[in-house]
Amino acid sequence: MTDPRLDSLIAALPAKSVLTEPDVTAGYRQDWAKQPDAGQPLAVVRATCTEDVQAVMRWSHEHGVPVVPRGAGTGLSGGASAVDGGLVLSLERMRAISVDPATRTAVVQPGLLNAEVKAAVAEHGLWYPPDPSSFEICSIGGNIATNAGGLCCVKYGVTTDYVLGLHVVLADGTLVRLGGPRLKDVAGLSLTKLFVGSEGTLGIVTEITLRLMPAQPPAQTMVASFATLQEAADAVLAITATMRPAMLEFMDKVSIIAVDDYLKMDLDRTAEAMLIAQSDAAGAHCSHELAEMVAACEANGATEIFSTDDPAEGEAFCAARRAAFPAVGALGELLFEDVGVAMTHLPELVTGIAEIAERRGVTIAVVAHAGDGNTHPLIVSDPHDPDVAARAHLAFGEVMELAIGLGGTITGEHGVGRMKKDWLPAYLGPDEMALNQRIKDALDPRNLLNPGAVF
Ligand SMILES: Cc1cc2nc3c(=O)[nH]c(=O)nc-3n(C[C@H](O)[C@H](O)[C@H](O)COP(=O)(O)OP(=O)(O)OC[C@H]3O[C@@H](n4cnc5c(N)ncnc54)[C@H](O)[C@@H]3O)c2cc1C
Repeated sequence: MTDPRLDSLIAALPAKSVLTEPDVTAGYRQDWAKQPDAGQPLAVVRATCTEDVQAVMRWSHEHGVPVVPRGAGTGLSGGASAVDGGLVLSLERMRAISVDPATRTAVVQPGLLNAEVKAAVAEHGLWYPPDPSSFEICSIGGNIATNAGGLCCVKYGVTTDYVLGLHVVLADGTLVRLGGPRLKDVAGLSLTKLFVGSEGTLGIVTEITLRLMPAQPPAQTMVASFATLQEAADAVLAITATMRPAMLEFMDKVSIIAVDDYLKMDLDRTAEAMLIAQSDAAGAHCSHELAEMVAACEANGATEIFSTDDPAEGEAFCAARRAAFPAVGALGELLFEDVGVAMTHLPELVTGIAEIAERRGVTIAVVAHAGDGNTHPLIVSDPHDPDVAARAHLAFGEVMELAIGLGGTITGEHGVGRMKKDWLPAYLGPDEMALNQRIKDALDPRNLLNPGAVF
């Protein structure tokens, strides 16, 4: 029987917006972090417009029922895990977009996928740069809520650099309209930025004004293999000392072999590390930058280098990097790490991770957005073997502690969610943690928005 408290919510929303069938709600319990202890939601609400979201939050406020906002559920830190007796508020049906080539902006609803935003603006000769590897399956609303990064961020920045305005529904149902299609706007506090990356804990994003770029020039690509981690790291530093590559990705030996097994690409399986780099500089400068990258890799002992100006060939190598998650995922269930350090500490981080893997007896593959120091150690766990699962969880914590010890962060782009919140106080320290909590308390005094995530 449906909970009678839901009657007034059902009445306030379009037909079939509130789903309570257990087999349907089960599909909304977890994100890609697959937390086994995700809650059993009271209902899933599929909003169609901002007014629906306001109605949900007013109802939640009245009944004291928590709300977990959800985009496409590709999050890797349990930020969209359901809570017992709460609502999951899915934004997947809010999919409108309008593009204004004159101001080079787009107004987008949160449910559109990142790839759909890119495709829609490309029809106007424009480009939305942020490119999480999950771009074909994650929503733009989720990208805003996690401040998603990606491969081209080393040159073009992360999601927040493209957010000019937001419509946000607050915990009590109030709608605030922040910013807009203006490149410069310093009136008041930077509230738009406050909501970007807030992981659904401060408000629900229902409309986004995005800043766009002219179409990206065609890129040239280079792939280099190295016999040691140090040489690969030195090549990264040599490249970034002289230019801003459009992409600079790293794969360690475990991920190279996993991807080669998965895609049969004939990668160099003896290499300790592989770099994939791109230049998208204009005109002849592109070949010049690529030649400089090749020279930097040669000077730092690369054992094999391949370069191409063919976009399709280049894309095949980018696909290899993007395939790392499913390829390593084929070895077992993954705990996704996302720690970042200053680039000079990359070798210590990767070597330290290998030591943790050895000591804990678990497989850890490392891929990294090397150009910005953000790494993704992929820890292979086995939920059906409690011993392996326990050792994988210990390794998960130790990787974050290693990063903190190197002056790094516990998350560069995936967010804190529920998986990493135990390490947040150690990373932020007491004063910054308390400031975060004061902001949360001010905006969501009854802790109704995504309780258990981040805080
Ligand atoms: C194969 C794979 C590769 C990935 N690669 C990358 C990568 O390169 N870079 C990267 O940054 N991430 C990556 N991710 C992680 C994930 O795709 C991103 O975090 C993405 O931004 C999540 O979007 P989503 O729509 O799936 O959000 P969800 O998982 O549904 O939600 C994520 C968080 O945002 C909140 N939220 C969602 N929508 C809203 C909204 N409208 N208002 C308020 N809060 C909201 C949720 O409550 C939750 O806390 C990858 C994931 C996978 C599976």
